[in-house]
Amino acid sequence: MIIRVENTEGVTGWGECSALNRPTYSGEWARGAFDLLASLDLGTLAEPARLRTTAPMAAAGVEMAATDVDLRSRRQSLADRLGVDRQWVPAGVAVGLAAIDELIPRVDQLVGAGFGRIKLKIEPGHDVTEVRAIQRRHPELELHLDANGSYPPEGLRTMIALAELGIDVIEQPFHPEDVVSSQTLVDAGVCVVGDESVVTLDDARRLHHLGALTAISLKPARVGGLVAARVIHDWAIANGVGLTAGGMLECGLGRHALAAFAGLDGFTLTGDLSPARRWLAADPWPDLEFVRSGAGAGAIAIPSGPGIAPDPDLDLLERFTIARTELSR
Ligand SMILES: [Mg+2]
Repeated sequence: MIIRVENTEGVTGWGECSALNRPTYSGEWARGAFDLLASLDLGTLAEPARLRTTAPMAAAGVEMAATDVDLRSRRQSLADRLGVDRQWVPAGVAVGLAAIDELIPRVDQLVGAGFGRIKLKIEPGHDVTEVRAIQRRHPELELHLDANGSYPPEGLRTMIALAELGIDVIEQPFHPEDVVSSQTLVDAGVCVVGDESVVTLDDARRLHHLGALTAISLKPARVGGLVAARVIHDWAIANGVGLTAGGMLECGLGRHALAAFAGLDGFTLTGDLSPARRWLAADPWPDLEFVRSGAGAGAIAIPSGPGIAPDPDLDLLERFTIARTELSR
């Protein structure tokens, strides 16, 4: 869902709510978020704090549009607003579950395209064999794993086996509520990244206190937007908790916001920074720039233009529009 905001001076800003089509990954979904925002008045939308607790992904989209208007009015980039001064952020891709004979060519192609870090999705029955095969072909590749919480407590043995293969970053190995298994894995020296288990700062605090995470996959689009994500980011630095920037299946607009945010100092692990063309055949927004050679090779250029992203192709946006509503004063 795309949110367009126009201020009284006629400056336009854009925001993206990256909720999926169905409420699978989180309780929010695109049509639900659309109906929710359409039912609100502008006063409520201007106060995103309340919306953040009930519908964080919708709130993130509204906040992005309001931030974009403000940045464009001041001719300021998001990176500049956040205090990010680096030019690049390391690129990384997530690779979904697939049969091994499909998986290997996909990984070969990504490594060939210049990606130095891959986050491989695993689940029980699709783990050690796949990891061994990839490591044999690409010993130099930085390989992280993401189980999306799919392992039962007995999966601890598999996690230890993976660590013995040299894997040191595993995202959400166990169910978000299985704190004990995560604690054991952290104690074994594995970098355990919390994703589904960390929706709010309180989740992060609790799991850190219990020694059940080493790092967090921080997704501004999911935790309620850039402001809420910044609070978690600053807390992570103060508490020695690592961060990796997590993305959604968003278009170039959301990708631009993520690339600027991922330039903050708290991001200690390579995140999911890849261009949107990996999953979109056509995109109204310009894509992120993947640097192929020279300075910054294998990295994503942090956007430096005014606002969050360059202007969209309005014709293309119109072509993909399936519903629209307008709220005005
Ligand atoms: Mg994840």
